[in-house]
Amino acid sequence: MTKVAVLIETTDNEVKAANFGVLTAAHGDGHEIYAFLTGADAEGCKAVLGKYGVGAIISIEGDGADLQAKPDLKAKAIIAAMKEYETSVLLALSSSEGRDILARVAASLKVPLATDCLSVDISSSTVRKPYFSGKTIATLKMNGAYFLSAIRPNAVEPAEAPAEAAVISFTAVVGDYDGLVVKEIKQSSSGKVDLSEANVIVSGGRPIGSEENFKILEECADAMGGAVGASRVSVDEGYAPHSIQVGQTGKIVNPRLYIACGISGSVQHFAGMKTSKVIVAINSDKDAPIFNKCDYGIVGDIFEVVPALTAELAK
Ligand SMILES: Cc1cc2nc3c(=O)[nH]c(=O)nc-3n(C[C@H](O)[C@H](O)[C@H](O)COP(=O)(O)OP(=O)(O)OC[C@H]3O[C@@H](n4cnc5c(N)ncnc54)[C@H](O)[C@@H]3O)c2cc1C
Repeated sequence: MTKVAVLIETTDNEVKAANFGVLTAAHGDGHEIYAFLTGADAEGCKAVLGKYGVGAIISIEGDGADLQAKPDLKAKAIIAAMKEYETSVLLALSSSEGRDILARVAASLKVPLATDCLSVDISSSTVRKPYFSGKTIATLKMNGAYFLSAIRPNAVEPAEAPAEAAVISFTAVVGDYDGLVVKEIKQSSSGKVDLSEANVIVSGGRPIGSEENFKILEECADAMGGAVGASRVSVDEGYAPHSIQVGQTGKIVNPRLYIACGISGSVQHFAGMKTSKVIVAINSDKDAPIFNKCDYGIVGDIFEVVPALTAELAK
């Protein structure tokens, strides 16, 4: 049994649901999970983390330093906690926060790091991750004193493994360092659900035609608690912000349901969403390439099909 640390991400003191798959990966065939928490109320997270096998919640603080504003110090505090609790594995979400912190930890410890992993096997120190826009999946053996990996949101199906989580406070001696200070984090105006972690995504392509028309996709996504995505053409034409572009030069997403509305199905778009569990395409051209790659295809005009779908969902 290995001691595995998992970096937990929270929003407003709530554990993000995307962490549950990472905890399931950490649990593997019965490993001991240490949830590393910074900047959140550990007692409030106890019940939900216990559900996914967490035995100990390490509530980490810096000695007077603001760890949320200083990622170098946060990484330092995490390394101190790894050494204190002898966790040889550190897993996180492959989100902007997870990748940022793990990269700093890996550089400090001089160990390899694999991000955007689809799965990890702690017992054999291996990870599986996609390459060449998802055309191939490699299994990598991680050699190093520590095993660090960031897992793609929604890649691992969460499975409950109830445990009694104990809260332990840990104060790391991190000193001070002003090399990089986060002054402000602006919430994206495009949607309530984070695109990379969304379970449902409704994406729009070229025929959407304007920023205003994206509203029909937002209404449909809202009806399922999902997020809105866009093709590069929609972004280049100014209909949507780059922050919601899906694809090779945009975000990589992995929802349970991806609805592509008026998207032709280019390899560059697929590079960002091909691991979606179910892909539905709505396209007016019955010969559109996307119909060869989706699970369900609807031949029709998005301006008729999407509102009809939203109306059905509302029922
Ligand atoms: C280096 C590189 C990186 C790239 N990165 C990305 C990326 O990250 N993401 C990305 O998306 N693209 C990317 N692209 C661009 C990509 O090659 C395609 O050009 C782009 O994905 C096409 O966008 P689209 O499907 O919205 O538009 P189109 O290819 O023009 O397709 C529009 C589709 O809408 C259908 N349609 C038209 N009217 C209607 C209607 N009323 N109702 C229903 N269907 C309708 C058409 O039949 C067509 O299939 C990249 C390209 C390069 C070269």
